[in-house]
Amino acid sequence: MGRITPEAAEAVQRLLARGNMSLRAVSIVTGISRGVVGKIAAGTWRPFQHKQPKPRDTPFSSESVGRCPICRAKVYLPCRACTVREFMRKKDSHA
Ligand SMILES: [Zn+2]
Repeated sequence: MGRITPEAAEAVQRLLARGNMSLRAVSIVTGISRGVVGKIAAGTWRPFQHKQPKPRDTPFSSESVGRCPICRAKVYLPCRACTVREFMRKKDSHA
């Protein structure tokens, strides 16, 4: 028997959620062993744990990275350099 994929487990959960199929029926329909179907039904089955790559060196990953329309640099928008430059420019114009 092959490894149960999270997708297969989800399919089992969906069938079980309908509530009109026995574990045996779900097992037959999905081709997943009754033992595993039982574990999925009980919520004790866990898929093979993939190691989630931790976002490193990206402290601003929640911010959008894009091309600054002003200086054309690839930066986390809004472009801080241009924001500062704009601030200085406005400051100067008011001086
Ligand atoms: Zn810029």
